[in-house]
Amino acid sequence: MTTVPEFAPLPDEAYVGGAWRQSAGPASTIVDPATGRVLQTVSQSTQADVDDAVAAGVKASADPAWRGLLAHQRARYLHRIADLIDRDAERLATLQTFNTGKTLTETRGLVASAAGTFRYYAAVLETADEAMTTVRGDYRTWVQHEPIGVVGAIAPWNSPVASDAQKIAPALAAGNAVILKPAEWTPLVSLAMARLIDESDLPSGLVSVLPGRGSVVGEAIVRHPGVGKVTFTGGTATGRGLAHAAAEKLMPVSLELGGKSPTIVLDDADIEQAVAGVMYGIFSSSGQSCIAGSRLFVHSSIYDETMARLVERTEALRVGNGFDPATRVGPLVHTRHRESVASYVELARSEGGRILTGGAVPDDPALADGSYYLPTIIDGLENSARTCQEEIFGPVLVALPFDDEEDLVRRANDSVFGLAAGIWTRDYRRALRLADRIQAGNVWINTYKAFSVSTPFGGIKQSGLGTEKGREGIAAYSRVKSVYLGMSAEPNPWADS
Ligand code: NAD
Repeated sequence: MTTVPEFAPLPDEAYVGGAWRQSAGPASTIVDPATGRVLQTVSQSTQADVDDAVAAGVKASADPAWRGLLAHQRARYLHRIADLIDRDAERLATLQTFNTGKTLTETRGLVASAAGTFRYYAAVLETADEAMTTVRGDYRTWVQHEPIGVVGAIAPWNSPVASDAQKIAPALAAGNAVILKPAEWTPLVSLAMARLIDESDLPSGLVSVLPGRGSVVGEAIVRHPGVGKVTFTGGTATGRGLAHAAAEKLMPVSLELGGKSPTIVLDDADIEQAVAGVMYGIFSSSGQSCIAGSRLFVHSSIYDETMARLVERTEALRVGNGFDPATRVGPLVHTRHRESVASYVELARSEGGRILTGGAVPDDPALADGSYYLPTIIDGLENSARTCQEEIFGPVLVALPFDDEEDLVRRANDSVFGLAAGIWTRDYRRALRLADRIQAGNVWINTYKAFSVSTPFGGIKQSGLGTEKGREGIAAYSRVKSVYLGMSAEPNPWADS
């Protein structure tokens, strides 16, 4: 019997320029995907909310009380937000499990990661070095990193709180104001974090959180003349549209987009370790992860053995409510998303794929009202099949045998995406050779989905533009100003007529 805590609804208010108010847009119904129960409604923000948030952000970011702070002085505010996140960690994790269906183990990890991200950027501010550029004349030169002003941050539904922090912390660290738009299905934890930011002593107006539709609130943020940069995480098609809109303003954008990441098991791999890593890579978060290892390449000499173990272990995974500590695979975020995942499995069937396990909604009556889908493994498809090329964003793994490295590299790279890759082998030379040849922004060798805020993260090809995290993460939210200081006491001889 799963013990589900009491759900405590949040006030139906957006955080607009430092003030809480109910928005005038239509109400979004927020559902617990584990049970189908309506948790509460949240009013969608409007163009007027965006206008007010931007006006407050412009004012607050230019105010000497913020703009005039030195880097190490800004660090204090980030520490305070991190402390408040830690204080309310269990409440935030619980809220996120209610809203997204993710297991409590995972949402606890995401909340801890959010606090860690604020602390990391506080530490970067405390330890940042600046250097003069090399002297090439009778002058001194250096670079100043200045805030952009107001940053728009647009987030997806899969890992709010962690992805929110990944945008808000470096943007504040760089001295900006931030307007966050959470995804329509999952605004609760972002609104709860906004209450903590409100409780901190961060100057009012620096952070706004505006829930609502992408086509209304997201567009209004991107197109607003007062917004100087947008950082976006979401689907590739949405990101491309956003980049077009940004081009109209010549505004910089960072895009963290989709993936169809290859996981490669070489013939000398520790099969037990590889199978556990492959399962975690695709089935944790119910596959709703941009970096999910969703295309599995296994050497043909160990293919049958690996697949047999993988199927057996996958069938033993507990599918259920995220509040049950035994659950490994929670529900999908929404029944509409489950329909999309299920339609891809039907597509795989019609493309000639063999469903080795899953491929259906679980038949356990206790799960009937949630948006669950069984972990699914498919083989028998060519890499060119749509199921192998398009991001499904669910617990669906396609498996492909390979014989030689050339063929493997060609097929692994035969994708519009380039977000991540996994390599399982005991031979570090082969691993590093493959890591060099696979087109991906992130490569894991004998591990998968390991994450560190101090290591930059980004995609190549249609998986994104720019990087988040790492010391350089702040630079993405700064403008560069070069200053020349003349050292000569003489008038410029050119002026002598
Ligand atoms: P989505 O693209 O549908 O939406 C993402 C966000 O953009 C939401 O807040 C949405 O409301 C907003 N949006 C939608 N249309 C918009 C518009 N016209 N203008 C401005 N904003 C708009 O993505 P999703 O379904 O919420 O999330 C899943 C996708 O996110 C997957 O493709 C996944 O791979 C990707 N993702 C990528 C990363 C990464 O770091 N690379 C991380 C997580 C998720």
